[in-house]
Amino acid sequence: MLKTFTKPLVLLVAAIALMAFMGCSQAPEQTGQKAEQAAPADQAAAKDRLEAVKEKGVLTVGVKDAVVPFGYVDEATNQIIGFDVDVCKYLADELGVKLDVKAVTSATRIPMVAQGSIDVAAATMTHKIARDDVIDFSITYFMDGQKILVAKDGGITSVDDLAGKKVGTAKGSTSEKNIKAAQPECTVLSFEGYPQAFLALKQGKVAAVTTDSTILLGLKNSDENPDNWVIAGDYISAEPYGLGLPENESNFRDFVNATLMKMWRNGDYEKIYNKWFGQDTKYYLPLTWQMELWP
Ligand code: GLU
Repeated sequence: MLKTFTKPLVLLVAAIALMAFMGCSQAPEQTGQKAEQAAPADQAAAKDRLEAVKEKGVLTVGVKDAVVPFGYVDEATNQIIGFDVDVCKYLADELGVKLDVKAVTSATRIPMVAQGSIDVAAATMTHKIARDDVIDFSITYFMDGQKILVAKDGGITSVDDLAGKKVGTAKGSTSEKNIKAAQPECTVLSFEGYPQAFLALKQGKVAAVTTDSTILLGLKNSDENPDNWVIAGDYISAEPYGLGLPENESNFRDFVNATLMKMWRNGDYEKIYNKWFGQDTKYYLPLTWQMELWP
């Protein structure tokens, strides 16, 4: 008797085990839907970034510390100040939390957002599809484009003149790739940051520095001899800046985007903009673009 029952039972158990195995191993691959459906429960259990920041009472942001006037060290106070800091201060004030500013470079800002050591990267960063793999971006909060900075009497007036020449820029920037596309015959030297690239220009080690025009204006006009330098030629790219945000944190991203739009609508954005880029500053850049405003 036992024998006759055992066989079907074994088969039944084997069949159930196989179905369970197939269910477990195939569902996530075959049906992306199933994998996605599982996510909200996990997310509901964990606090989202917006809640976490509020609970912590601190918004931790990454800003450049040597890019005038976006983020640089104020010699009087030894604090990082600049346009990007003020935008972040506005976000922190909206949340009613303190602001903690960490220094980032072009190469470290995306990994730092991805690893969660900063909540926001406000760091002269162009939002690009190619950069969207491991972090998300806000809507555009600043608009610029790439140019070159050269010595006044150095005989270089455009990117065309850079064939066979060395050009300095920063590691991890869009500028590295854009200049190679615009002038395939130049040699790109990538430095830790733009001040180092500018030093190389002063020492005659590169024929030009290339990056976004306002960063070049910051280098030129914070130099002791601004008239020695010229921002030359046409724009070789469009560089719309986005705030770097943690991946898949839609409440946090909504908050950031809504706050940027609010600043633009109520005139606070323009006040901050004019403080750093207005006509009375050394870094005048007319505000000619319009923030994307959702109705
Ligand atoms: N906006 C460009 C970028 O995101 C150049 C400036 C920078 O290196 O931060 O790469």
